[in-house]
Amino acid sequence: MSLLLSNAAAGQDAPAPARNAAPAPVRFLLTFDDGPAAADSDNPTVHILETLARNPLQDNIKAVFFTQTRAWHGGGTETGRALIKREHDEGHIVALHSATLFHSNHRFMSKKTLDESMQKGVDDLVGVTGVAPKLVRPPFWAYDAETLESYRQHGMRMLLTDLNANDGKIYGINFSWHKRSNMLTHLAETRKRWAAGAMPVVDGSTPVVVTFHDVNTYTSRHIQEYMDILIDVARELDVPLAAKPFYDDRDELERAALASTVTSADAKPQLPGLWNWLWQ
Ligand SMILES: [Zn+2]
Repeated sequence: MSLLLSNAAAGQDAPAPARNAAPAPVRFLLTFDDGPAAADSDNPTVHILETLARNPLQDNIKAVFFTQTRAWHGGGTETGRALIKREHDEGHIVALHSATLFHSNHRFMSKKTLDESMQKGVDDLVGVTGVAPKLVRPPFWAYDAETLESYRQHGMRMLLTDLNANDGKIYGINFSWHKRSNMLTHLAETRKRWAAGAMPVVDGSTPVVVTFHDVNTYTSRHIQEYMDILIDVARELDVPLAAKPFYDDRDELERAALASTVTSADAKPQLPGLWNWLWQ
């Protein structure tokens, strides 16, 4: 009887089983943390903006910038604020990473301090771009239920990452000999979730979030090479790419990013490097 019922329930209204459907092609969702940089000349954030706008792979790529609005050597300076405005004006998404002088851990803050810090970050970005941020990424990928609740109360959702260049100046390697093998390893892991139909599909594509650090001068000098590597490792792993492999429309980018956010502390996504091990 229950079998009959479940067969009936699987009638015309039921969605097609994901297993039989080919997963939607992948689109790389580029994100940049810790910026903007404050350098007056040879500024790495500027170089990244210029490369995203014009390069041999795809012009006018739009990215998400997780900014540190009060960083003493970055977002808290006149140059930094001008770059945050430029990111917004050029059609990128400006999001929040921190509103502290340093790269402070949100999970180690009291609820009151974190709430105040999130409010400052939102106010800072509204002041510069006129738009409240909808996305936040925790420094050191460190969060818990209380962190997520504070984000939610300030109108933001948390975006983690699928692929990571491991180029963080603060905790990572500034110079990597292994850019390609690193991306290959990360995409091979992501591919398993993609093939299992476990990733969101938005506007016909599967967003794959990639993290870089725009304050890193090595990254900025090699960003085009990194983009080449992404295309190349997708080919090697037989991961089909969307006709435009990178996002080039802010609204579409925002839909893809919001669909990729983590809203529950019970979800334990794979974090880059040793961070799962460290935070458990
Ligand atoms: Zn960071």
